[in-house]
Amino acid sequence: MPGAYEELLDATIQHLEDLKSRGVRHVPVSPGTLRALAQPANVATFAASVAAAPAAPMAASPAIAGGFKKFALAASVPAGVATAPPPVASPPPTLSPALPPLDPTAKAAAFAALRARALACVRCAHLASSRRTVVFGVGDPDAQLMFVGEAPGADEDAQGEPFVGRAGELLTKIIQATGLQRGQVYIANILKCRPDTPGQASGNRKPTTEEMATCIPFLHEQIDLIRPKVLVALGATAVEGLLGKTLGITKLRGTWHTYRGIPLMPTYHPAYLLRNQAIGEKRRVWEDMLAVMGKLGLPVSDKQRNYFTKA
Ligand code: URA
Repeated sequence: MPGAYEELLDATIQHLEDLKSRGVRHVPVSPGTLRALAQPANVATFAASVAAAPAAPMAASPAIAGGFKKFALAASVPAGVATAPPPVASPPPTLSPALPPLDPTAKAAAFAALRARALACVRCAHLASSRRTVVFGVGDPDAQLMFVGEAPGADEDAQGEPFVGRAGELLTKIIQATGLQRGQVYIANILKCRPDTPGQASGNRKPTTEEMATCIPFLHEQIDLIRPKVLVALGATAVEGLLGKTLGITKLRGTWHTYRGIPLMPTYHPAYLLRNQAIGEKRRVWEDMLAVMGKLGLPVSDKQRNYFTKA
């Protein structure tokens, strides 16, 4: 039986080979990590300092929640170090579908290291100084289904968790309507910090192209680690960040796209559904979710199939 050290070493080698097979030729390693590598017992530090891993399958709950319908109807740091951001539209190469699963310990270490890097990030100095928290993401790191939104709002910034405000409550209802629980999926945003709104007491603004390009590598790494079977992009900014497409969510939603080999369904942002109460728009989002359920092999009851077909 290999010990924890050998397992982590194997996982690290496997991970580096995976990166190499995807065209990565350089891995950033800090001087501290290099020093730690001189001590064999500290290989975990190195494993945690490079990220990427496939995920294990997630069990879907058979329970069906009808809350989406009801809820939907009821709803009325210091100066940063700038590094050159990559273009928003150029994610790393396609993930290989045949990648073997990564050792869970190494995956957890890589995920923790990624979170620590994101929480300490000051690349957007203006956001680092205005934010209360860095909103990394929430949910099951082994989820089959991952939702990506735009950026934290005031509630998310205060609580450090994505989608906890009114739009978040609606997203939770949408997730529950598929038969899954919020904790069974993973939820993240294109931006991990709330876009600042200088001179405004409230409200949100769309992230700039530069902010998106600066932050998106964290999301790419997150997706590398989670390896969901299906991605749902909530709104135009999420689609732009993940796919580089700016065609408009009305044209893009309802059809399958691909993010580095992973099927991606664009749909309306829940905040849009809060603003537009038309049953037709709710039905469109629900049809997108039925397609997602089909792709994941989740059971669909007649009741679910017919949500939002009648006023
Ligand atoms: N809107 C988003 O896009 N993300 C959040 O986390 C909250 C609201």
